[in-house]
Amino acid sequence: MENEFELLKAEVLQCTKCQLSKTRTHVVFGEGNPHANIFIIGEGPGRDEDLTGRPFVGRSGQLLDKILAACNFNRKEHVFIGNIVKCRPPNNRAPLPEERAMCLPYLLQQIELVDPKILILLGATALNGLIDPALRITKIRGTWKEWHNRWVMPVFHPSALLRNPTLKRPTWEDFKKIFFKYRELVDPTHTSPHINIEDSISSEEIS
Ligand code: SF4
Repeated sequence: MENEFELLKAEVLQCTKCQLSKTRTHVVFGEGNPHANIFIIGEGPGRDEDLTGRPFVGRSGQLLDKILAACNFNRKEHVFIGNIVKCRPPNNRAPLPEERAMCLPYLLQQIELVDPKILILLGATALNGLIDPALRITKIRGTWKEWHNRWVMPVFHPSALLRNPTLKRPTWEDFKKIFFKYRELVDPTHTSPHINIEDSISSEEIS
């Protein structure tokens, strides 16, 4: 499997299947534990990600890391982070349907190889690109979905939280659900000083 993952990575890093290859600096394959139980999916690389070749390294990524840390999750051990498209759309526009369609098979292969129990979909593009184009993130965030025998939790994208801080509270509630699902499915001993195990309610807020 390790080998398959590396082969896939080598293929993706050279990909020119869609027009985004012409304007990118780096392909952003994704990073984290290739055996992670949680797979996080965003929209696509932004400027910082394009420059570094790493996912979620800008302000949104720092906020994501902070939320993960509050759940006592980290990139090295608990999660793998990828995107719907692996090359930056110019001027941070949303990826076009044909670009998403060309790139999606890579993401599907990554999910199959990592074989996570839980998928976290960050924002509308991830939700619509992977699960169902008709679903609205504002309506169904925070509710578990089932997809190919995996638990799926759609949440707001961290960039939405940066634009609108009132979304931080509901997003924290969503991540607490993920925390408890991880305890249920993967590790019943997993704890966080920010989450009360007894009553599943925390007074702490992501800020
Ligand atoms: S966005 Fe995906 S399909 Fe398009 S060039 Fe990059 S890796 Fe290939």
